[in-house]
Amino acid sequence: MSLLPDPARMTPLPHPGHLSLVGAGPGAADLMTYRAVRRLQQADVVLYDRLVSPEVLDLIPATIPRLDVGKDCGNHRWTQADIDARIAAELRLGRRVVRLKSGDPAIFGRAGEEIAIAMAEGATVEIVPGVTAVSAAAASLCQPLTTRGLAQRLVLATATDHRGDLAATLADDFGPGTTLALYMAMTRLDQVECALLSSGAAPDTLVTIVCACSTPQEQRAAFALKGLAKAVAQAGDLRNPAIVLLTWGLTAAQGTAHAARLPAIGCDQTKR
Ligand code: SAH
Repeated sequence: MSLLPDPARMTPLPHPGHLSLVGAGPGAADLMTYRAVRRLQQADVVLYDRLVSPEVLDLIPATIPRLDVGKDCGNHRWTQADIDARIAAELRLGRRVVRLKSGDPAIFGRAGEEIAIAMAEGATVEIVPGVTAVSAAAASLCQPLTTRGLAQRLVLATATDHRGDLAATLADDFGPGTTLALYMAMTRLDQVECALLSSGAAPDTLVTIVCACSTPQEQRAAFALKGLAKAVAQAGDLRNPAIVLLTWGLTAAQGTAHAARLPAIGCDQTKR
């Protein structure tokens, strides 16, 4: 008779659970990393955000439970506290929880709170990076975010935070040698315009807006900084999710000339 216990009769040790904060990228499924796709396949449960595209959700195996914890602004179905509590409860059961977040989870993704929850539960935790929206906007525009001699500094900023309006402080972040990439700025364009003009940015500075990067709804448009808010309102159809990009020293005329040479959105250049 073997002295070794029969594994089939052993009570499994309580598992600490594992939290993966997984970057879903900007929308196109083929912009996900291999690791991100693997985590989806290994998950016991997936909690996903509002901006995660249907194409990416299709990569979650049908057998794996998924929860839409997307929070519509002004109509909170799930609060962050609800999400945190659910993550903690799943981890306590020893589950592998995937928190699927648009773009890169470490950029404006409230990752810190969820990491703290996992650590407090004694669970293991990791970040699986993703392609952030600004990188996808640069790809759409075929425009680098840094350029030797023109932009040696890239500032990623939000124009909105939980205290409200941050637009006024943006002036400190924009100056010679800088590309300023703004998340969540579409409802603050008047303050952005005002703050940047008063900090000395040229009125004809190029402002590029790219909406829904890498999705079938993608749009891009170029404006001058002066009159930006009014021009965008008149354009009418540019809305969230969107990235607003400015590089000190690039003019609206240069932007228009560059845009004229870009292939149409969605055009697969490898098939030309
Ligand atoms: N973690 C995300 C950012 C989440 S904050 C990332 O790394 O991309 C939400 C904001 O991101 C939106 O308001 C918008 O400014 C931007 N955003 C997210 N997806 C986008 C997309 N596909 N196209 C343009 N902007 C996007």
